[in-house]
Amino acid sequence: MEKTLIDNETKEITQKPSIYSYELQELEKWLVENGEKKFRGKQIYDWLYKKRATSFEEMSNLSKDLREKLADHFVLTTLKTAVQQTSSDGTMKFLFELHDGYTIETVLMRHEYGNSICVTTQVGCRIGCTFCASTLGGLKRNLEAGEIVAQVVKVQKALDEQGERVSHVVIMGIGEPFDNYDSMIQFLKIINSDDGLNIGARHITVSTSGIIPKIYQFADEKLQINFAISLHAPNTELRSRLMPINRAYKLPDLMKAVKYYIEKTGRRVSFEYGLFGGVNDQVEHAEELAKLVKGLKCHINLIPVNYVPERDYVRTPKEQIFKFERTLKDHGVNVTIRREQGHDIDAACGQLRAKERKEETR
Ligand code: SAH
Repeated sequence: MEKTLIDNETKEITQKPSIYSYELQELEKWLVENGEKKFRGKQIYDWLYKKRATSFEEMSNLSKDLREKLADHFVLTTLKTAVQQTSSDGTMKFLFELHDGYTIETVLMRHEYGNSICVTTQVGCRIGCTFCASTLGGLKRNLEAGEIVAQVVKVQKALDEQGERVSHVVIMGIGEPFDNYDSMIQFLKIINSDDGLNIGARHITVSTSGIIPKIYQFADEKLQINFAISLHAPNTELRSRLMPINRAYKLPDLMKAVKYYIEKTGRRVSFEYGLFGGVNDQVEHAEELAKLVKGLKCHINLIPVNYVPERDYVRTPKEQIFKFERTLKDHGVNVTIRREQGHDIDAACGQLRAKERKEETR
């Protein structure tokens, strides 16, 4: 049985929506319907996203009555930091506790071009990729949009002390974003808003394991955000072995959906390709992969496997990684090898949470 981290006395169980789940216009509509002035919406947004308030009481330019009304209807989601680690390369990893005691991971990576945050969309995951730590305990629940937004606000608050800003967001933490689609889209709209955190669409990336119907839906949203697909194999047999989702949503159909996305949006896609030693990392795999993506407006991101103790994949030797990359390049494919960060702090997806879960159940 999974033990929660917070003690029952202080545990706040609430069914109220998070105020961070609301777009400004939705909040304004709520205010007007509740006998308040529309302009209060902007004031509240300022408190949430500019002053980064952690309670309604702090919102001193609102009447006491309105502050109470807000507290009756919403929660101002404050994530509790259960664990925080900082790597020698500046990567910060947070294990946050939700109101119901579940924990999620958020990672902040430092790049030359800015600070990038990797957010979680679900408590656990039900996709079952054979190499991934996030899926080990199955799916517990979806996150509300506001619980995803709160991760960005919380990390931004930590960065405020250093006078820095979260400039990029990748939706590549725990969970399958397209399995929590509506909340993910709502999250995108909220962090993108000029009145809020104002994170540019082109600075946001979402990654999916390949839920095909949602890829079509996503293409039709015509957003300017970056799109990545976890591919990991150049043919459908091998992909089914690595990723059970490929049995429901097969590679040829996935490629059709990706083509539709590119045509509809005019944007380039990224394919993530994890290199699993002796499994998918041979020159013939690279050749097959080059054929698969031929003519597509795309980029391939090679990820050296992150070691997960519960999984028995091994790393591809460095020379082999370069050989794989070279083969793709020789075929005219755009390819990079993912730079690794935060190795000393379990920064790869789900690792910290998996470790905590194990320690709790011990
Ligand atoms: N569920 C979404 C978002 C997760 S993104 C998706 O599957 O795309 C995280 C990326 O890291 C995915 O490409 C995932 O397949 C990959 N990944 C997960 N575990 C890994 C591991 N042990 N080694 C390398 N890559 C891994």
